Amino acid sequence: MEFRKKTFLIVGFGISAKSACDFIMAKGGIVYFTKNTAFQASEVEEIRNLKCEYLDFEGQNKLILQGKADYLVVSPAVPLNSELCKLARANKVEIMSEVELGTMNTKATIVGITGTNGKTTATTLLDAIIRGDNKVSKAVGNIGVPITKYANILTQDDFAVMELSSFQLEETTSLKPHVACILNITPDHLDRHKTMENYIEAKSNIIKYQRSNDYFVCNLHDELICEIAKKTKGKVVYFSHLQKTSGAYIDGENICYNNDEFIVSVNSINLRGAHNLQNVLAVITMAKILGISNVAIAKTLQAFTGIEHRLKLVSVIDEVSYFNDSKATNPDSTVMAVNSFKEDLYLIMGGMDSDLDYSKLVKNFPKNLQRVFVVGENSEKIVKAIGKYGAVRVTRASTLREGVLLARYFAKSGDVVLFSPASKSFDKYKNFEQRGTHFVSIVESINGKRK
Ligand code: ADP
Repeated sequence: MEFRKKTFLIVGFGISAKSACDFIMAKGGIVYFTKNTAFQASEVEEIRNLKCEYLDFEGQNKLILQGKADYLVVSPAVPLNSELCKLARANKVEIMSEVELGTMNTKATIVGITGTNGKTTATTLLDAIIRGDNKVSKAVGNIGVPITKYANILTQDDFAVMELSSFQLEETTSLKPHVACILNITPDHLDRHKTMENYIEAKSNIIKYQRSNDYFVCNLHDELICEIAKKTKGKVVYFSHLQKTSGAYIDGENICYNNDEFIVSVNSINLRGAHNLQNVLAVITMAKILGISNVAIAKTLQAFTGIEHRLKLVSVIDEVSYFNDSKATNPDSTVMAVNSFKEDLYLIMGGMDSDLDYSKLVKNFPKNLQRVFVVGENSEKIVKAIGKYGAVRVTRASTLREGVLLARYFAKSGDVVLFSPASKSFDKYKNFEQRGTHFVSIVESINGKRK
């Protein structure tokens, strides 16, 4: 792709827009920024320091209409049917996303991971496994690190493991990961995609441009994804938790690959839950395709204890394990979490009162759940749902700290205390990360103290 003296109109001024700007300018291109709200004084100063320009609505349209823009770089927040994109298309301005810009202009091997759930877990784990084999890898994309930050630096021996959201995939026109994986697809983001068909189509874009030497990693037992797999020109490699197959599979106590090749024992994996086992099987399959050694795969898997705020072990105090699952911002995630333990379980849940229905969660409470402690704005709603559908004792706590102390009081040696709110965090916190960090600090503060 030609950059020298080419003019790029970048929409937005977020992390990936700025990263795209650095990338383009390093290659000799000219950058204009535009966005749908006015640039603030601090942003104007930043743009001046970057040695580029910014345009308002009229300015951007003029640049396009006068044929002075070569490329329009859009962020995932800008739908392809927006007026700006329509105008660009009508005037033969090439539209691309930051993902496209980076992937088209890097020598690294691209791995693309998408799915409704599990993207960050799988991306982080695969990246760690590759690095554990003494190779250079960067986890990029939707995970919060723009690919353009590393596109220039990575060589043909290196890897870019990309977490891809449906918004990012919706915009792709050439992205072809050498190894692609759709972990799962359940209804989500339908406000943007409108229909489930559109959402599936956006996700399917991950394989749209693959060639015969590329790979698609697929859950053998997911009918929808197996159907999508038929569309790739690449090779399909399956993983399974139930039977022997071409990729990673579970054989009794072991995880094996393809033809009885032993990789690691199931017991040595520290991630909890059947959903995480699916993620692990997908990741092992991708790692094997990429030629990563079995030793490196096993070593990293055994050392990996999960990602902050996602069913992550915080501490073991008086032989009680405390898990932080603050990322569980809806009841479905908490269903998954409570069903990930065999131990006697004490659940702390609750948060912002939004339009969520707790009946399914409460009906799915497992038998080993001993008691629920509710905190936050929606306490009343959860207590009512438990009263109506659940056969478990429930205690209201006025603060998260009180909830943790109560759980500590009840839990015995070998039990688990799980913070999985099934609610958004905005009643008291900026985001789920801040909420999870609060939980962790409470747990750490009781460590070493007597009950
Ligand atoms: P994402 O990046 O796609 O949001 P994460 O890896 O951050 O996914 O996990 C978020 C939550 O999604 C987890 O806490 C868990 O509740 C759920 N989850 C993770 N992996 C899976 C999976 N394979 N299938 C279903 N749900 C999952």
